[in-house]
Amino acid sequence: MTKPALTLYLAAPRGFCAGVDRAIKIVEMALEKWGAPVFVRHEIVHNKFVVDGLRDKGAVFVEELAECPDDRPVIFSAHGVPKSVPSAAQARNMIYVDATCPLVSKVHIEAQRHADNGLQMIMIGHAGHPETVGTMGQLPEGEVLLVETPDDVATIEVRDADRLAYVTQTTLSVDDTADIVAALKARFPAIVGPHKEDICYATTNRQEAVKAMAPKCDAILVVGAPNSSNSKRLVEVGARAGCTYAQLVQRADDIDWRALEGITSIGITAGASAPEVLINEVVDAFSARFDVTQTLVETAQENVEFKVPRILRQAS
Ligand code: SF4
Repeated sequence: MTKPALTLYLAAPRGFCAGVDRAIKIVEMALEKWGAPVFVRHEIVHNKFVVDGLRDKGAVFVEELAECPDDRPVIFSAHGVPKSVPSAAQARNMIYVDATCPLVSKVHIEAQRHADNGLQMIMIGHAGHPETVGTMGQLPEGEVLLVETPDDVATIEVRDADRLAYVTQTTLSVDDTADIVAALKARFPAIVGPHKEDICYATTNRQEAVKAMAPKCDAILVVGAPNSSNSKRLVEVGARAGCTYAQLVQRADDIDWRALEGITSIGITAGASAPEVLINEVVDAFSARFDVTQTLVETAQENVEFKVPRILRQAS
């Protein structure tokens, strides 16, 4: 039986970013340096496949530092942690390695600098996301106000409208964030913010590639985890850029083939925490069912790389 023809658009950039790559390397190097078990506070990156692979090598994933013994190393995830977490590890004389992405650490430093200058902080982010919790936790509880939507901006109560600054989560939708920043500037004209919002290069580039791909696609699949903020944003961006069917899939098994009946084009991308092996699995699943012509939709090239912390580069 002849297979139906399908144009498969593959977004570039897609998948792993430099912060995720570094965080995974940190766990692997820690396991090599100290042996198993190495504890990891929170999923090192939001991807089950990655977490399961590291667990098989001897990493133990926990949600709180209190669950870790004093005498084993602990790693903090790429999303960042409140200041209280490294302080508690220090107080217990634990060996810890901070795998917070340097681009998240940069936001932490910004928030602290604004607070040191006497400005009240507003964070644009998603309530409960570990990165938001970590960034808000750079300052004492209650000091950072959270806004998630332009409507929130209308109702927040600030100490002094002329003494405000904002930071953002790194993995937000570029367009949604622009609307929230516009609302903040309209209500608080003196508010201070980053020159460019804090959304990182990887989030921005992956969203741009999806926007370029979406108008050509009958459907878009984003390979990523349901708790991955940047993956979920890619689904939204795809839908908003004109593709009526945009879905998140963790692996090829999640593909709803019935919903894709009759398509002649598909766009595939992946969130920053999804490994290429899972993208290949999804591409292969299409090749098994369709006569695929693959086209790369490349909107940027990336060559960012972050060093692992010195403690892992030193000999034991
Ligand atoms: S998505 Fe951006 S901020 Fe998050 S780990 Fe990757 S590079 Fe860092």
